[in-house]
Amino acid sequence: MTAMVNQMPSVATSRVIVTTSWDDDAASGLRVAEMLASKGLAGTFYVPTGRLGEGSALRASDLRSLSANGFEIGAHTVSHAILTQVRGPDLRREVEECKQVLQQILGEPVTTFCYPKGRFNAEVVRIVREAGYQGARSTRMLASDALFSQFAMPTTVQAYPHTRANYVRNLLRPGAIGALVTSAPDLISFGNWLQLGKRLFDRVLRHGGIWHLYGHPWEIEKLNLWPQLEEIFAYVSRRESVTYCTNGQLLKPAPERAAAEPIESKHATA
Ligand SMILES: [Zn+2]
Repeated sequence: MTAMVNQMPSVATSRVIVTTSWDDDAASGLRVAEMLASKGLAGTFYVPTGRLGEGSALRASDLRSLSANGFEIGAHTVSHAILTQVRGPDLRREVEECKQVLQQILGEPVTTFCYPKGRFNAEVVRIVREAGYQGARSTRMLASDALFSQFAMPTTVQAYPHTRANYVRNLLRPGAIGALVTSAPDLISFGNWLQLGKRLFDRVLRHGGIWHLYGHPWEIEKLNLWPQLEEIFAYVSRRESVTYCTNGQLLKPAPERAAAEPIESKHATA
């Protein structure tokens, strides 16, 4: 990991933002999208392009329909390669080709990227920047600051039954010290991811910031986390003081973000 640059003032600190993101190519992403839409929530789907249309993977038409329903499609490499283990032209291809393929399918720019397994270094960030992305999401959890590094966008909670030790390990990564302090009380009384997610949301409601839930639809299917997902969606949805947006909308400069169409109206017309 490397120290990231471009700390950006994403939102006024008093604002409360809720965003979600969903990784990989499983068609169960469509069920996540339906649940999000029914609750008026926004989300970004980070999709590797190498297996689209094969087996239980999403098809090109699914991506177009997600996009038409107000969801963002972000890039997640071609083959889901761990980018810190790939060099030279192969690294560039993994980062660039997925963008081109998705743009071809969607007929619009793809501006956000997600590092497979959250693994990146300075070289990876350079290639991702050069490919024209506006930012990239990591797998760091327990973050809620309105300020974040564009190419190391953190998350708050994962829809996954992590142990407390997992969270602590995640907090011991470089750059997470602020989150260690603010989330310590919630971790000490930690019961499960659902409870932690609610508590961190309550904290963001009180203090402002970004609450970012991420997950893998295939994992939610495998572990049958659907009821918990429904519960957390209901908990954070339709709050008066909250702005719901995609990851990409968080990365846009403020004037563009203000002009962005409200997510709910997009869903309503779907
Ligand atoms: Zn992935």
